[in-house]
Amino acid sequence: MSKIVFFSIPAYGHTNPTLPVVSELVSSGHQVWYYSFHEFQEKIESTGTTFISCDEFLPPISEEELNRKVGKDFAALIEMVADTTIALDEKVCTELRAFQPDCIVSDSLCFWGKLFAKKLEIPYICSTTSFAFNKHTAKLMKRSINEIFKMIVAMPRINKKMEMLRSHGYEVESFISIVQNDNETDTIVYTSEKFQPMAETFSNRYAFVGPSIWSSSEIFLEEKNGKVIYISLGTVLNQNKDFYQNCIEAFADSEYVVVMSVGEKTDITLLGQIPKNFIVKNRVDQMAVLKQTDAFITHCGMNSVNESLYYGVPMVLFPLHSEQRVVANRVAELKAGVLLKRSTPKNLKKAVADVIGDRKYRENAQQLTENLRGAGGAVRAAKVILQVIGER
Ligand code: UDP
Repeated sequence: MSKIVFFSIPAYGHTNPTLPVVSELVSSGHQVWYYSFHEFQEKIESTGTTFISCDEFLPPISEEELNRKVGKDFAALIEMVADTTIALDEKVCTELRAFQPDCIVSDSLCFWGKLFAKKLEIPYICSTTSFAFNKHTAKLMKRSINEIFKMIVAMPRINKKMEMLRSHGYEVESFISIVQNDNETDTIVYTSEKFQPMAETFSNRYAFVGPSIWSSSEIFLEEKNGKVIYISLGTVLNQNKDFYQNCIEAFADSEYVVVMSVGEKTDITLLGQIPKNFIVKNRVDQMAVLKQTDAFITHCGMNSVNESLYYGVPMVLFPLHSEQRVVANRVAELKAGVLLKRSTPKNLKKAVADVIGDRKYRENAQQLTENLRGAGGAVRAAKVILQVIGER
């Protein structure tokens, strides 16, 4: 029996794919601890994993600030990582020295997990819920001038945080060494080699295991009368009244059945009159909806795209930040969806008509379904972890 410790950031997109993996490990008799946040406790504990809360150690942060940091303000994210690592340092180091895990599996953005592994000399595995990232794929990110400017202005602050980390025993060369892994790092990537851009630039230490998903046995629509459009901007940057109202204007009283998930914080009553052919919810069982969907208008979070392709659903691609743009471009390149430039009602209507009207989009999405499902998923991810530990 091995002892494995997971770390993740407080985000569904980064936590969800790890749950089938920890479940697989626990059911094979391994002991798993998961450092995460209260919002995810129930889901994590339902897998039989020991949940450890990090909530009180995350610097207090307003929702607006968090939204700004996630994907948009890289420098601020680095500062937050350093603060969180230092805040958690004593608790985690004491607990892990006693527990003596065989390895730490940490999300690719949960840099404190990586830092603890290095400091405590515990084997480290990176869990990547977006595309794998290296100096070659970094070029695809095309950060905006504004993002680069913010980064340059923030460099002195970042350097100060690096010094603070060093004084707590973290031997960091630079912030680049924190955010970027090399080809010697064991890395699990929840996509396939075919879908990953520039896959040939990654070593065989990268395991492209495909989507790690629990398919849903639920039926969302009792009767499916007509083509179904599903709309979601994911769980983070989803407060976008203008976008939802444009969707309503575009598809009101059309031949489509429209399912729109607007996020927990969006007040549905403020969206105006909901047309009869719309079902608007704060959250849906996305896997159940996708099983019945003909076109998915998505913000191109990696999980949403993976889940869409898992069921061969073509997409209208509306990315909100640079990482999602890379995912959107890859889907467009493989012709499994079309890019939406601006979300005007006219553009939305045309994009959906194109995606549904031309069979090649669904056929291309379905080809990726086979490829992604064949990559091994959670079972393979668990095997990779045990191989790194040296136990099969
Ligand atoms: N999700 C869901 N119900 C919803 C909206 C989203 O279950 O109504 C899930 C979705 O299935 C996916 C995750 O939330 O697993 C969103 O992750 P993604 O990477 O797509 O985007 P993020 O929320 O990280 O921006």
